[in-house]
Amino acid sequence: MNLKSMTLPELTAVIKELRQPAFRGKQVYSWLHKGVRSYDEMTNLPKGLRDTLAERYPICPPEVARKQVSQKDGTIKYLWRLSDGNCVETVLMRYHYGNTVCISTEVGCRMGCAFCASTLGGLVRRLEPFEMLDQVLFTQVDSGLPVSRIVLMGIGEPLDNFDNVMRFLELVNSPDGMNISMRHISLSTCGLVPKIDELAKRKLQLTLSVSLHAPNDEIRNQIMPVNRAYPSEELLAACRRYYEATSRRISFEYAMIDGVNDSEADARELLRRMKGLPAHFNLIPLNYVEESPLKPSSREAVARFQKILEDGGIPATVRRTLGGDIEASCGQLRRKYAKETT
Ligand code: SAH
Repeated sequence: MNLKSMTLPELTAVIKELRQPAFRGKQVYSWLHKGVRSYDEMTNLPKGLRDTLAERYPICPPEVARKQVSQKDGTIKYLWRLSDGNCVETVLMRYHYGNTVCISTEVGCRMGCAFCASTLGGLVRRLEPFEMLDQVLFTQVDSGLPVSRIVLMGIGEPLDNFDNVMRFLELVNSPDGMNISMRHISLSTCGLVPKIDELAKRKLQLTLSVSLHAPNDEIRNQIMPVNRAYPSEELLAACRRYYEATSRRISFEYAMIDGVNDSEADARELLRRMKGLPAHFNLIPLNYVEESPLKPSSREAVARFQKILEDGGIPATVRRTLGGDIEASCGQLRRKYAKETT
């Protein structure tokens, strides 16, 4: 296992096996979580220990394959090349309440949503905990901007990489590391019901986002294959259980697709189905994906949909698009890069 995927007690055990005092464990942990690229940067460690660690536990930091900075809003998008040559995307968004990074959890994705660029080439592999942590650390180091919030909404399905994602959350939340509060973390899922139940058991204070995108199975089946395994009725039931277990209001994502899920009738049906489930809706005008015929809803359709939800008592915000000029959404940069380099 990469040292940076280890918790402090695990790493300390490794250090003790090397016949070093336990406090060295904390020193190494703290350096690693600052985003050093080499053990030689760990200036308060004895040279012998640095050399042994370098030999047995290479750090394998990601390299910047591409970096794009939005001229409009300062959003920065990184395409990282991992040590095995695979690439993943990370986006840094600058909000008034703090800098937020959107990280990837897998190389590719096997969920097959019709509107999403990340899934077009299928799943290549899942990310290790340190590879998720590195996206946060090296985005912070490279940009020089402190990161205070994390969203797991980049490439991949976080709950399809459950154990590694749970370990990543523990690492990034650790007081000896980045110490990012769970309340400043959002995890987005397309709706893997058994995993939502598993997550509920952990009672984390993070925000769960559910990509709903449709008021019923007929529409959801067309755009999200996962709905055939876990129909919307079961998904909403799992959301209710999640709320009961955690008392955390769920945030629902709803990508507005012209003529597919954006009618008044769709909004009314959605309202009915959400009865009694405390929720917040994020309405996202669809981002164009080159390979897909789907188009974003008109501004009027989005406004009408929002009003129906709000009048029915469900808070709904229309998501501001950041980084529109730099393809800052959902696997688009990775695909473009792959096309250009092969
Ligand atoms: N797999 C997770 C997280 C990654 S995607 C999930 O499905 O939730 C993050 C969000 O972007 C999801 O809500 C996803 O449905 C949405 N999304 C994907 N492609 C999009 C597009 N072209 N336009 C708007 N939203 C999109």
